[in-house]
Amino acid sequence: MWDALIVGGGISGVYAAYLLREKGYRVLVLEAQSRLGGRLYTVYTPEGWPVDLGGQWVGPQQTHLLRLIEKLGLGFYPTPMQGDHLLVLPEGGIQRYKGSIPKLPWLALVDLGWGLHRFRAKMKAVHPQAPWHITEPTWEAITLAEWSRSQFRTILARELFNTGMATVLGCEPEEVSLWHALFYARSAGSLEALIETEGGAQAYKITPGASVLVETLAQFVPYQIDQPVIQITYCPDKVEVRTLRGDTFQARWAIIAIPPAMTARIHWSPPLPPLYQQLGQRMPMGAITKVVAFYERPFWRDKGYSGHVVKLAGALRTLFDTSPPNATYGQLTGFGVGALARALLTVSPEARTDHYQQELTKLWGTPPQRLYVQAWSGEPFIGGGYGGYFPPGGWRFCGQVLRKPLPPLYWAGTERSPAWMGYIEGALIAAQNAVENYTKY
Ligand SMILES: Cc1cc2nc3c(=O)[nH]c(=O)nc-3n(C[C@H](O)[C@H](O)[C@H](O)COP(=O)(O)OP(=O)(O)OC[C@H]3O[C@@H](n4cnc5c(N)ncnc54)[C@H](O)[C@@H]3O)c2cc1C
Repeated sequence: MWDALIVGGGISGVYAAYLLREKGYRVLVLEAQSRLGGRLYTVYTPEGWPVDLGGQWVGPQQTHLLRLIEKLGLGFYPTPMQGDHLLVLPEGGIQRYKGSIPKLPWLALVDLGWGLHRFRAKMKAVHPQAPWHITEPTWEAITLAEWSRSQFRTILARELFNTGMATVLGCEPEEVSLWHALFYARSAGSLEALIETEGGAQAYKITPGASVLVETLAQFVPYQIDQPVIQITYCPDKVEVRTLRGDTFQARWAIIAIPPAMTARIHWSPPLPPLYQQLGQRMPMGAITKVVAFYERPFWRDKGYSGHVVKLAGALRTLFDTSPPNATYGQLTGFGVGALARALLTVSPEARTDHYQQELTKLWGTPPQRLYVQAWSGEPFIGGGYGGYFPPGGWRFCGQVLRKPLPPLYWAGTERSPAWMGYIEGALIAAQNAVENYTKY
């Protein structure tokens, strides 16, 4: 019998196991897929260049992650932002700009500034430790899109806000509650921490690729891959876990480190209490598509461009220069959101890649040498990305059980974190909380 079984071998599950091992417990991680890492997924080009198809950046506020990177002897480099950024307007026009806010007509600029100010002011109403206490019920009952429609007078400001928020949240403003968007920004400390590159969540890229975090931790942790957990039987002092292969494992307690939506796929005995079952149905995953393009060199720098692009049309809505510091090759990382990106989820992977290839070629006038497109909605044991979010009613009706242990079951995974939910930092904090909670209960 193990002390603890960890269900899910993403960074949160593996880090929880690492912490428990440090405390002398006997633990085993069970991972459904044939690789550890979950939403951290680094593949390599034939030349050996890393391609992060999932998480990749760390920001200066993400202290747990920065400390872990240092402890494991890993590194990171700043996201290059020198030069002019580009804004592609809905009708196709292109504007150059510097700083974080594009050069808009003054009416749209004032409109955007006031809208952002009102959003920031509203964030104060949400308590990140207990966002299920809804102090402003109407904000929890409407979507972010409804709020944005009522706030912005100009189409340009509204489009910029909606595109920015969709890229940050990984879901559409029509899908998520205003309350959740406010919580998300509050859980990161500020809106700027979320959206900024320099000084924000996109500041540094983990080297050589983010999967190395999990691979390094896994050297100290027993784990089994290709072990989808299908049944969990529990009583106050014992857990029995059965996998698809038919193996069973017993432990004194378990940490469930999978997205809440994935808990609905497990057969629980006894059944989970009502709100926990509802949570499994009411926290869908985002539907981000990540696009990584390789070029012989970062040629955009020759023209004075930073490589950072915001597009208000098409499927690919943002781009960042993620080329290595020595510029041995050029690499742009982009995100597909919006109606067209969603429509592309209905076509074959080849047709989808073809579309992104065309958008990039149209933008730069030259096709990428290699292109990687990862639609996270197609991931069988994760279901989407960046993470789970709450539509209206979610925080109000299910939020209170999101982080509440059900001994001998404890919850980890980025969705369970009060800080930096949706990020690697949140996954680490949730793992630490799950480990601390066990010793409390
Ligand atoms: C495209 C993309 C870009 C991102 N960019 C960034 C970024 O730059 N910076 C950042 O900080 N964050 C980023 N994120 C978010 C970050 O990757 C995640 O927050 C983090 O990796 C989540 O880790 P986790 O362990 O909580 O969950 P996961 O990584 O989802 O791990 C859960 C694991 O559980 C396994 N599992 C599920 N069901 C079962 C089962 N029944 N039995 C056994 N195993 C099961 C899954 O296979 C998975 O491996 C990004 C995410 C995506 C998708």
